[in-house]
Amino acid sequence: MVRTRPGLATEAVHAGQTPDPATGAIMTPVYLTSTYVQESPGKHKGFDYARTAHPTRLALERNLAALEGGRFGLCFSSGMAAASTVVSALSAGDHVLCGNDVYGGTYRVFTEVFRRFGISFSFADTTDLAAVRRAMTARTRLVWVESPSNPLLKITDLSALALLAHERGARLAVDNTFATPCLQRPLGLGTDVVVHSTTKYLGGHSDVVGGAIVTNDEALHQELKFLQNSVGAIPGPLDCFLVLRGTKTLPLRMERHCRNALEIAKRLERRHDVRRVHYPGLKSHAGHALAKRQMRGFGGMISFELRGGLKRAFRMASRTRVFSLAESLGGVESLIGHPATMTHGSIPRPERFKSGLSDELIRLSVGIEDVEDLIRDLDQAIRASK
Ligand SMILES: *Cc1c(COP(=O)(O)O)cnc(C)c1O
Repeated sequence: MVRTRPGLATEAVHAGQTPDPATGAIMTPVYLTSTYVQESPGKHKGFDYARTAHPTRLALERNLAALEGGRFGLCFSSGMAAASTVVSALSAGDHVLCGNDVYGGTYRVFTEVFRRFGISFSFADTTDLAAVRRAMTARTRLVWVESPSNPLLKITDLSALALLAHERGARLAVDNTFATPCLQRPLGLGTDVVVHSTTKYLGGHSDVVGGAIVTNDEALHQELKFLQNSVGAIPGPLDCFLVLRGTKTLPLRMERHCRNALEIAKRLERRHDVRRVHYPGLKSHAGHALAKRQMRGFGGMISFELRGGLKRAFRMASRTRVFSLAESLGGVESLIGHPATMTHGSIPRPERFKSGLSDELIRLSVGIEDVEDLIRDLDQAIRASK
């Protein structure tokens, strides 16, 4: 079911990491220092000031680049800082075409922050390439997409979208947070820049907030690195250490997330009080065939519509005992959320409805617990919400 790429598990454990030259420590140490002593002005061991670079971040950047099959990695203090950096490489007058089913915070920073600086944004269903073509303008410099998307798990044909973007002189950025490089490597499909919230699966333990960018384009990397250092939204050494510890078990965890999620999606689909289940691993999902081609597994995220309107969905999300009601996703523990009032609350209701995000929608981040416990928990919460 999850066909992990040969070599990936080894890279997850080793890429970017060598024993500490000073002590032999096998784990990249956390150097809690802001500055590094220089031998003579400008002559140092590769580190001068911790905003510009520090050893733990460097190890993580190399690790993430290797996992994504990219040449260059950059880490940030959050996924939003990483996304903002990609857009900061644009200029006033430029246009961004964004998928209409993206993380609520991405929608918010695009429309409420970057619009103020003269960058324009429009939103389209990226599963429909004709719609994307229509929404692009002569000024479109960037196409931004999530696949699988959040929270409807729609699948976009990334190779086709990259061709289309390049035809028009735009770059394609893929937020690969949901899939992770275990299940999908967008750079190999023609994508120019991959963005992550490492807060989610890469960190994997809900104990750190972070972000990352990976690219193969050296000029773009230099520009983004300049912005990383200039703006300064960088992660500290301990944050980098935690993400680096997380990526070591990413392939193992993703296998279990995928297996649990597929089983839960199938069981939910059989229920009469569930109107629809959105999971790319189900044959009923519109993007199933594409996901099978483009991905190595279908991921740990599920959303479904519970018959009974906003009140019932709200009640159900409050009644689980193993699933915790919380924002975020991608940790070892299962989470449940109600996008309309939580993660996607910042999207105006008419906009939300237009992109198919109903009041009845429940989102699950399926963890690595025993699947029968998760299924029992959902059953009792659905029954209790009547
Ligand atoms: C969480 C998330 C983000 C934002 O990342 P933060 O680390 O919370 O800033 C961006 N995209 C997706 C798909 C996410 O799930």
